[in-house]
Amino acid sequence: MMVLIGVQDSNIKNGQILDSKCPKCESKNSLNFSIYRRYTHLTLIPLFPIGKYVNIECSNCSTIFDYDDLDKNSQLQLKNEKLNNPIWMYSGCILLVLAITFFINNYIESKDESAILIKTPAKGDIYHLKFSNGYYSSMRIDQVTKDSIYTTHNDYDAYLPYEIKDIDKPENYSKRTIHYSKSEIANLYKEGEIIEVLRK
Ligand SMILES: [Zn+2]
Repeated sequence: MMVLIGVQDSNIKNGQILDSKCPKCESKNSLNFSIYRRYTHLTLIPLFPIGKYVNIECSNCSTIFDYDDLDKNSQLQLKNEKLNNPIWMYSGCILLVLAITFFINNYIESKDESAILIKTPAKGDIYHLKFSNGYYSSMRIDQVTKDSIYTTHNDYDAYLPYEIKDIDKPENYSKRTIHYSKSEIANLYKEGEIIEVLRK
Protein backbone atom coordinates (compact mmCIF):
# COMPACT_ATOMS: atom_id res chain seq x y z
CA MET A 1 0.00 0.00 0.00
CA MET A 2 1.26 3.43 -0.83
CA VAL A 3 1.33 5.83 2.10
CA LEU A 4 0.62 9.44 1.28
CA ILE A 5 1.02 12.33 3.67
CA GLY A 6 -1.05 15.36 2.86
CA VAL A 7 -3.17 18.20 4.13
CA GLN A 8 -6.87 18.61 3.73
CA ASP A 9 -9.36 21.29 4.69
CA SER A 10 -12.66 20.78 6.37
CA ASN A 11 -15.40 23.37 6.77
CA ILE A 12 -16.16 23.56 10.48
CA LYS A 13 -18.27 26.70 10.88
CA ASN A 14 -20.35 29.12 8.80
CA GLY A 15 -22.20 32.24 9.80
CA GLN A 16 -22.92 35.90 9.26
CA ILE A 17 -20.84 38.80 10.57
CA LEU A 18 -23.19 41.10 12.48
CA ASP A 19 -23.18 44.88 12.09
CA SER A 20 -20.81 44.58 9.18
CA LYS A 21 -20.48 46.59 6.03
CA CYS A 22 -19.11 45.16 2.78
CA PRO A 23 -15.75 46.87 2.04
CA LYS A 24 -16.69 46.96 -1.63
CA CYS A 25 -20.43 47.51 -2.19
CA GLU A 26 -21.00 48.84 1.34
CA SER A 27 -24.20 46.85 1.83
CA LYS A 28 -25.06 46.09 5.44
CA ASN A 29 -24.96 42.67 7.09
CA SER A 30 -24.14 40.94 3.85
CA LEU A 31 -20.85 39.35 4.90
CA ASN A 32 -20.90 35.61 5.44
CA PHE A 33 -17.94 33.66 6.73
CA SER A 34 -16.80 30.06 6.36
CA ILE A 35 -14.09 28.80 8.67
CA TYR A 36 -11.98 25.86 7.56
CA ARG A 37 -9.75 23.70 9.67
CA ARG A 38 -6.68 22.33 7.96
CA TYR A 39 -5.46 18.90 9.03
CA THR A 40 -2.74 16.46 8.07
CA HIS A 41 -3.62 12.99 6.95
CA LEU A 42 -1.79 9.79 6.24
CA THR A 43 -3.32 8.22 3.15
CA LEU A 44 -6.95 8.71 4.17
CA ILE A 45 -6.57 8.73 7.94
CA PRO A 46 -6.61 12.21 9.54
CA LEU A 47 -3.76 12.72 12.01
CA PHE A 48 -4.25 16.12 13.66
CA PRO A 49 -5.34 19.68 12.85
CA ILE A 50 -2.58 22.14 11.92
CA GLY A 51 -4.28 25.46 11.27
CA LYS A 52 -7.32 27.27 10.08
CA TYR A 53 -8.38 29.88 7.59
CA VAL A 54 -11.50 31.84 6.85
CA ASN A 55 -13.32 32.79 3.67
CA ILE A 56 -15.58 35.85 3.73
CA GLU A 57 -18.06 36.44 0.96
CA CYS A 58 -20.50 39.29 0.40
CA SER A 59 -23.96 37.94 -0.44
CA ASN A 60 -24.73 41.15 -2.30
CA CYS A 61 -21.76 41.64 -4.63
CA SER A 62 -20.29 38.10 -4.29
CA THR A 63 -16.79 39.49 -3.65
CA ILE A 64 -14.55 37.25 -1.57
CA PHE A 65 -12.48 38.91 1.15
CA ASP A 66 -9.58 37.98 3.36
CA TYR A 67 -9.57 38.45 7.11
CA ASP A 68 -7.25 41.46 6.65
CA ASP A 69 -9.79 43.24 4.39
CA LEU A 70 -12.32 43.51 7.21
CA ASP A 71 -12.76 46.34 9.70
CA LYS A 72 -11.70 45.91 13.32
CA ASN A 73 -15.19 45.08 14.58
CA SER A 74 -15.68 42.26 12.05
CA GLN A 75 -12.20 40.90 12.71
CA LEU A 76 -12.89 40.80 16.42
CA GLN A 77 -16.15 38.92 15.86
CA LEU A 78 -14.38 36.30 13.80
CA LYS A 79 -11.60 36.02 16.36
CA ASN A 80 -14.16 35.35 19.07
CA GLU A 81 -15.95 32.59 17.19
CA LYS A 82 -15.83 29.49 19.33
CA LEU A 83 -14.28 26.64 17.36
CA ASN A 84 -14.05 23.02 18.24
CA ASN A 85 -11.53 20.60 16.85
CA PRO A 86 -13.60 17.71 15.57
CA ILE A 87 -12.38 14.53 17.26
CA TRP A 88 -12.20 12.66 13.93
CA MET A 89 -9.30 14.90 12.91
CA TYR A 90 -7.27 13.04 15.54
CA SER A 91 -8.33 9.52 14.48
CA GLY A 92 -4.85 8.65 13.22
CA CYS A 93 -3.29 9.64 16.56
CA ILE A 94 -5.97 7.76 18.48
CA LEU A 95 -5.38 4.64 16.38
CA LEU A 96 -1.65 4.93 16.96
CA VAL A 97 -2.08 5.16 20.75
CA LEU A 98 -4.44 2.14 20.70
CA ALA A 99 -1.97 0.13 18.62
CA ILE A 100 0.93 0.96 20.94
CA THR A 101 -1.16 0.06 24.00
CA PHE A 102 -2.11 -3.22 22.34
CA PHE A 103 1.52 -4.13 21.59
CA ILE A 104 2.72 -3.18 25.06
CA ASN A 105 -0.05 -5.30 26.62
CA ASN A 106 0.82 -8.21 24.38
CA TYR A 107 4.48 -7.87 25.27
CA ILE A 108 3.77 -7.83 29.01
CA GLU A 109 1.44 -10.82 28.73
CA SER A 110 3.98 -12.88 26.79
CA LYS A 111 6.65 -11.98 29.40
CA ASP A 112 4.33 -13.16 32.20
CA GLU A 113 3.56 -16.37 30.36
CA SER A 114 7.24 -17.10 29.69
CA ALA A 115 8.06 -16.57 33.37
CA ILE A 116 5.55 -19.30 34.27
CA LEU A 117 6.46 -21.72 31.45
CA ILE A 118 10.21 -21.54 32.12
CA LYS A 119 9.61 -23.16 35.52
CA THR A 120 7.95 -26.23 34.02
CA PRO A 121 9.92 -27.13 30.90
CA ALA A 122 8.13 -29.62 28.66
CA LYS A 123 9.02 -31.59 25.55
CA GLY A 124 8.25 -29.54 22.45
CA ASP A 125 8.70 -26.11 24.10
CA ILE A 126 10.48 -23.59 21.90
CA TYR A 127 12.82 -21.15 23.66
CA HIS A 128 13.70 -17.91 21.92
CA LEU A 129 17.30 -16.94 22.56
CA LYS A 130 19.37 -13.80 22.52
CA PHE A 131 23.10 -14.33 22.24
CA SER A 132 25.77 -12.04 23.63
CA ASN A 133 26.97 -11.38 20.02
CA GLY A 134 23.63 -9.71 19.32
CA TYR A 135 22.10 -12.50 17.24
CA TYR A 136 18.84 -14.27 17.99
CA SER A 137 17.89 -17.89 17.61
CA SER A 138 15.79 -20.62 19.17
CA MET A 139 16.04 -24.06 20.67
CA ARG A 140 13.60 -26.90 21.06
CA ILE A 141 13.18 -28.99 24.21
CA ASP A 142 13.49 -32.66 23.29
CA GLN A 143 13.46 -34.33 26.65
CA VAL A 144 13.13 -33.34 30.31
CA THR A 145 14.44 -35.48 33.14
CA LYS A 146 14.60 -34.82 36.87
CA ASP A 147 17.62 -32.46 36.63
CA SER A 148 18.37 -32.11 32.95
CA ILE A 149 16.95 -30.64 29.82
CA TYR A 150 17.95 -31.97 26.41
CA THR A 151 17.59 -29.52 23.57
CA THR A 152 18.28 -29.08 19.89
CA HIS A 153 19.43 -25.64 18.80
CA ASN A 154 18.20 -24.02 15.63
CA ASP A 155 20.67 -24.31 12.74
CA TYR A 156 20.13 -20.65 11.92
CA ASP A 157 20.42 -17.24 13.58
CA ALA A 158 18.22 -14.20 13.14
CA TYR A 159 19.23 -10.54 13.15
CA LEU A 160 16.11 -9.32 14.92
CA PRO A 161 13.88 -10.81 17.63
CA TYR A 162 10.76 -10.86 15.47
CA GLU A 163 12.61 -12.84 12.80
CA ILE A 164 12.96 -15.83 15.11
CA LYS A 165 9.51 -17.05 14.09
CA ASP A 166 10.71 -17.23 10.48
CA ILE A 167 13.51 -19.65 11.30
CA ASP A 168 11.40 -21.65 13.78
CA LYS A 169 10.70 -24.60 11.46
CA PRO A 170 10.96 -28.29 12.44
CA GLU A 171 13.56 -29.01 9.74
CA ASN A 172 15.87 -26.30 11.17
CA TYR A 173 16.42 -28.28 14.39
CA SER A 174 18.72 -30.87 12.86
CA LYS A 175 22.12 -31.25 14.43
CA ARG A 176 23.12 -29.11 17.42
CA THR A 177 21.94 -31.05 20.46
CA ILE A 178 22.87 -29.44 23.77
CA HIS A 179 22.20 -30.61 27.26
CA TYR A 180 21.55 -28.22 30.17
CA SER A 181 20.90 -28.62 33.86
CA LYS A 182 17.63 -27.16 35.08
CA SER A 183 19.50 -24.51 37.07
CA GLU A 184 21.45 -23.50 33.95
CA ILE A 185 18.16 -22.95 32.13
CA ALA A 186 16.82 -20.88 35.04
CA ASN A 187 19.99 -18.76 34.90
CA LEU A 188 19.78 -18.25 31.15
CA TYR A 189 16.26 -16.93 31.60
CA LYS A 190 17.29 -14.71 34.50
CA GLU A 191 20.17 -13.26 32.49
CA GLY A 192 17.96 -12.55 29.50
CA GLU A 193 19.48 -15.09 27.12
CA ILE A 194 16.19 -16.97 26.97
CA ILE A 195 13.79 -14.22 26.02
CA GLU A 196 10.57 -16.07 25.39
CA VAL A 197 9.03 -19.49 25.89
CA LEU A 198 6.47 -20.84 23.46
CA ARG A 199 4.33 -23.87 24.13
CA LYS A 200 1.93 -25.28 21.55
ZN1 LIG B 1 -20.48 43.51 -1.26
